[in-house]
Amino acid sequence: MEKIFVATSNKGKLKEIKEILKPIEIISIYDVLKNPPDVVEDGNSFEENAKKKGELLSRFVDGFVIADDSGLVVDALGGKPGIYSARYAGENATDLDNNLKLLNDLNGVPFEQRDAKFVCVIALCKSGKTIETFYGEYKGKIGFELKGGNGFGYDPLFVLDDGRTMAELSSDEKNRISHRREALSKLKKFLDNVSKNS
Ligand code: IMP
Repeated sequence: MEKIFVATSNKGKLKEIKEILKPIEIISIYDVLKNPPDVVEDGNSFEENAKKKGELLSRFVDGFVIADDSGLVVDALGGKPGIYSARYAGENATDLDNNLKLLNDLNGVPFEQRDAKFVCVIALCKSGKTIETFYGEYKGKIGFELKGGNGFGYDPLFVLDDGRTMAELSSDEKNRISHRREALSKLKKFLDNVSKNS
């Protein structure tokens, strides 16, 4: 496989995907489609959303497309914010709005009961169909205050086993352990097998 289109225009994600899937050429699908269709993420799971995005966009290019959906799952909140992670505090919520809502919703919950995980599902698609999906997760806890200036989203509240938050890790450190890394590594293994057998 020589190239793969990726259904994201997020520079950080593109960089991570390029590093892991080397030497495959990674192209943002949004750099080649003049009028990309709007993908409504209205599925009931990370997997449904990733598949929906990948299947729709893969009808518009000739080749493999990968699409991901990710978010934060908090045990004490029955799995919320989950697939609504980006808009937990409302349609145009900022990362800070979402983090403050999360803190508020967990008010009074002790540290031992603040288990959480980041989840990522990647769908590999071609010609409108999903070939395979890949799951990754990273477990931690939700802290009581925002700490650290790196990363994005819920990173400043996400506490690792060593007491640091995800936002206190360098991007290299985060990319070595993240939920996205786990899903991408599984995708890479799958692609390696495909090319070995073709
Ligand atoms: P999306 O998959 O890019 O749509 O991400 C959905 C939302 O999940 C983001 O807006 C973040 O709020 C959250 N999220 C996903 N991955 C991460 C991460 O690595 N760190 C912090 N928040 C994340």
